Amino acid sequence: MADRYLSFATSRVGGRVAARLGLPRPARLGRYRPGQPVARGPVVLGHAADPRAVKSLRAVLDRCGATVQEHPGRPGALLLDATGITATGQLAAVHAFFHPRIRSLLPNGRVLVLGSPPESAATPGAAAAQQALEGFVRSLGKELRHGATAHLLLIAPGAEEAMESTVRFVLSARSAYVSGQPLRLAAEVPAKVPAEVPADWDRPLDGRTALVTGAARGIGAAVAETLHRDGARVLCLDVPGQRDELHALADRLGGTALALDVTADDAVPRIAAHLGEEHGGGLDILVHNAGVTRDKTLGRMDADRWHTVLDVNLAAVERLTEGLLPAVRDGGRIVATSSISGLAGNAGQTNYAASKAGVTGLVRAFAPAVAARGITVNAVAPGFIETRMTAAVPPLVRQAGRRLNSLGQGGLPVDVAEAVAYFASPGTGAVTGQVLRVCGQALMGA
Ligand code: NAD
Repeated sequence: MADRYLSFATSRVGGRVAARLGLPRPARLGRYRPGQPVARGPVVLGHAADPRAVKSLRAVLDRCGATVQEHPGRPGALLLDATGITATGQLAAVHAFFHPRIRSLLPNGRVLVLGSPPESAATPGAAAAQQALEGFVRSLGKELRHGATAHLLLIAPGAEEAMESTVRFVLSARSAYVSGQPLRLAAEVPAKVPAEVPADWDRPLDGRTALVTGAARGIGAAVAETLHRDGARVLCLDVPGQRDELHALADRLGGTALALDVTADDAVPRIAAHLGEEHGGGLDILVHNAGVTRDKTLGRMDADRWHTVLDVNLAAVERLTEGLLPAVRDGGRIVATSSISGLAGNAGQTNYAASKAGVTGLVRAFAPAVAARGITVNAVAPGFIETRMTAAVPPLVRQAGRRLNSLGQGGLPVDVAEAVAYFASPGTGAVTGQVLRVCGQALMGA
């Protein structure tokens, strides 16, 4: 179901009409194409107080080929290292840096603030000042126009050298539908399998094997395509009813197909056998994407609806993660799919929200348990994404889902796929146990 209002508002005449009537004016978001520069234009790099990360950030920008300038006419990105802020009075530097520049940010531009985790602050004042950065970024994300987004990267002391993958993700069009939230870099990158620097940032998954569940269509198909684009060989899995679509996709991507219900009793041994026969036995990337909805308010929800949703969305994720862990190679990546419904709750979705909240609990618990093997476990939490799942919601709810976020539009499957690919990258080893919303900064649960 195409977003006709977006097409209207981004046309020349429609844009003028929308402006005159005071209607929302969502922007056409830039999406990533391999080979594209990381930043859209010149980058301004500032720092406050006694910064910890600016040197590493500058080196990353140089490796990305970004042009760092002090006073460009229209910056493509505004970057501030605020890791050294330890007192609320020093927050004035945040205002002083952004205030004169923010209105000249290019369309689809980026704001990135580097901070320190408030919980590691030495004094209450330092914790308050660092926590303040989150409120700043969340609000700025809501103010920005023309497809620009704002990000906060909390860097644990000692993790400064582990930021490249994340900086590349947030500065580039890969993060088109992500805004207004913190991402955390942990200091203890497991020594056994340190975060790797990909030889080619456009093909970071070269030589890796990925399993994507629910791959026949929608977000799962986009994840399979994006991981393939980044170099992985993909095992595409979906229910037997989707066999034709599944095989067509796997053939196109030079991967393999497995028609299997993730809730089947023999799901783990069948996947392991397929991996052994077709992929040499090991798995580098496991993406739990298969999911279903069976919406009803609780009083009208029969036990079947409850059970199906909990079983597919949560119990199968738990069983497959545990069962396939022996096949996941050291340094592997596990990415599960939550939902903003799971973070905020949603009327008519007690079953779905319970399952998707459960996914976040699972990810946070698995992450430390497998950290010693260098395996990371994270979740994406999509907001309103244009797929068959959301085409089925009533028109009014659909319109609300599209407009009630900072970017004023629904996301595309590829937006979620890019976030999955970011977590899947060997360079993202310092990010684990996290839930990344891909929701255009939805107001729901914000
Ligand atoms: P979709 O319905 O278009 O695709 C889901 C795929 O999962 C289908 O191909 C389906 O056959 C497969 N699947 C379902 N049950 C399965 C099972 N038991 N075993 C194997 N495969 C199974 O949905 P989508 O919109 O692409 O959603 C993908 C994921 O993203 C889901 O986990 C969903 O809950 C989540 N999500 C979607 C949105 C959105 O706006 N579309 C928002 C938040 C979260």
